Amino acid sequence: MKYFDTHTHYDWAEFDEDRKLLLKKLENTIIVNIGVNGSSNIETIKYTNEYKNVYACLGLHPMNVSTMEDLNNIKEIMNDKVVAIGETGIDYKFPNIELQKEYFIKHINLANDLNLPIVIHCRKAHEEVYNILINNPVNKKGIMHCYSGNLEYAKKFLKLGFYFGFDGPVTRDNKYDEIIKFLPLDKIIVETDAPLMPPFPLDENSRCDSSSLKYIIKKIAKVKNMDIDIVTNQIFLNSKRVYNIK
Ligand SMILES: [Zn+2]
Repeated sequence: MKYFDTHTHYDWAEFDEDRKLLLKKLENTIIVNIGVNGSSNIETIKYTNEYKNVYACLGLHPMNVSTMEDLNNIKEIMNDKVVAIGETGIDYKFPNIELQKEYFIKHINLANDLNLPIVIHCRKAHEEVYNILINNPVNKKGIMHCYSGNLEYAKKFLKLGFYFGFDGPVTRDNKYDEIIKFLPLDKIIVETDAPLMPPFPLDENSRCDSSSLKYIIKKIAKVKNMDIDIVTNQIFLNSKRVYNIK
């Protein structure tokens, strides 16, 4: 089967020991690595040159907005394997909410400038994120990464044309089931957010990588009561579609 990990952080220190070996092992999985600040963006670009299967999404993570980095730096390092802008958005776990909002809008403007979709990180801020998207539409839409909102907001973001990324937590908690059931299969994608959030049956405190995508897909197929091969294939096609990869 074909696998596509739409959200990873292989530049993080957790992979320093065995990154090369691991990415070699994953050469048949398409991977989007998400840069979270200037140096992480540069590292991500490096992987796109080194590995045929690795694509890039560049931005300044909500946890890093206090650095006040200039997003125009992204334009300087762009190549044709940059498929999205982000991750950006609002997360109440991190400080500087007003600055997070400001950077969210800056990312939207950059994405529209470059004609790219956006990857949205949203925690406990679905109303704020929704309002910003209403007032600042993203032409190429994008992904609600690691979707953690309720059904009501799922309907709203779906109406805006967004895709929904599901991660390890859906394998550990049934609270996502009604949303997975509701969403059309062609709007669902999967992501490991490696090294974070390993899916069941992996140890919750272990490091995860793209090889565990299959557990997330298995849970989605089960909730949707659909054949796992059909679900795997459709999710692969969705991932290519949202990132415009031929
Ligand atoms: Zn992430």
